[in-house]
Amino acid sequence: MDTQSAQEVIQFPCESCGGPMLFDADSQRMKCQYCGRLQEIATDASIPREHELDDGKEDEDTDWGMSQQTVKCGSCGGESLIPARQTATLCPFCGSAKVLPQPDTANIKPESLIPFRIDRDDATAAFRAWKKKLWFLPSSFKRENTSARLAGIYIPYWTYDAGTSSSYSAERGDYHYRTVTKTRVVNGKTETYTEQQRYTVWHWVSGEYDRFFNDVLVPASGQYDAKLLERLGDFELNGLLGYKPEYLSGYIAERYSIGRGRGWEEAKARIDDALRGDIRSEIGGDEVRSLKIDTGYSDQTYKHLLLPAWNANYTYKSKPYRFMVNGQTGLVSGKAPRSAWKITFFVLACLAVVAALVLWYASSQQAPPLE
Ligand SMILES: [Zn+2]
Ligand SMILES: [Zn+2]
Repeated sequence: MDTQSAQEVIQFPCESCGGPMLFDADSQRMKCQYCGRLQEIATDASIPREHELDDGKEDEDTDWGMSQQTVKCGSCGGESLIPARQTATLCPFCGSAKVLPQPDTANIKPESLIPFRIDRDDATAAFRAWKKKLWFLPSSFKRENTSARLAGIYIPYWTYDAGTSSSYSAERGDYHYRTVTKTRVVNGKTETYTEQQRYTVWHWVSGEYDRFFNDVLVPASGQYDAKLLERLGDFELNGLLGYKPEYLSGYIAERYSIGRGRGWEEAKARIDDALRGDIRSEIGGDEVRSLKIDTGYSDQTYKHLLLPAWNANYTYKSKPYRFMVNGQTGLVSGKAPRSAWKITFFVLACLAVVAALVLWYASSQQAPPLE
C-alpha cells in the first residue's frame, strides 16, 4: 500500500490544516502530509498488561483505539488490518489485487510495539546496499528499482511469561583414570610401560529445578516462515513502547494467524529446551544420560506485540521473490534471483584455474628420465 491509499480516510487530522497526519520514522512523531506540522505522540508510560493465558475470551482486549477492518488476500491468504472504510488496493505480502474485506473478526489488541525507525528511503537504500554485496545477480535485476513495491508492515508476535517447576532424574557420569602397566616388544626386547586409561563411573541423581521465564518471543505471523524472520535479525526489544494507534498510521498491521494457544505450544518447546540445558549443567559431571524431566507451568501470561518490517515482493522472469528490511535496525534478508549464465561462467573459470594448477603441478613433479 502506498501513502496515497492511506490518505483516503483521515484518522488523525492535522490541527492546523486538517490534512492527514501519519507516523514519521525520522522524527518519531506524527507529521502532517500537507503542511509538515509535527506533533508528539503522548507516550504511554504504564507497564504493559500481561494477560492470563487460561482466562479465555473475557480477558481479551480487542479495542485498538481506532476503527479498522480485516482484509484477506485471495491469492496468498495473508490477512491484514487497515483503517475502516479504506479500500484496500494491493496485497502487501504478494502484490495481488484480490484483496477482500472480511466479516467482523475480533483481534486481540497489541500491548506494545516498536515504531518504525527505518523509513521507505532508508529501506530502499538498505536493499540497494544488500544487492551490491550479492554475487551472480542478473544485471537487469541489479538495475531494477524495487522501492515502489515496499510495504511497511507490523508483524505480530506473542511473548509469554511462565513459572516452571521441574523434577528430574538422570545418570551422571564422571571420568576417572587408572594407570595400567602393559608390555610391548621393541627391537626384539620386551619392555613394560604404563598407560592412563579412562573409565566412567555412573550414579543416579535427582532433584528439583525452578525457573521463571520472562518474555519468550514467538512469531504469530502466517506470512513469513520462521527462517526468514530469523534472518531478519534480532529486534532490540528495549525499544518497545506502549501501543498507540498513531504508530500504525501509514502502515499495515498483519493479523496474527497463529493464535495465542498455538503460540504457547511453541513457547513451551523453547522453554523446555532451555530447561534441558539448565538441568544438564546443574547435574554437572562429564556426561549425563537417561535424563527425565517433568515440568509444571504456572502463572502463564501473554502479551501481543507488533514489530516493524518493510516487505517487498517482486517477480523476476515470472518467478516470485521476497525480501524484507528490519524496520528498526535496517537489516536486510531475502532471496534474490541468480544469473545462471554468470554462475556457469564462474564455475568454468574456476575449473580452468584448477586445470592450470594441475598441469603445472604435474609438469614440476615429472619423474627423472630412466637411464
Ligand atoms: Zn497540516
Ligand atoms: Zn497476497
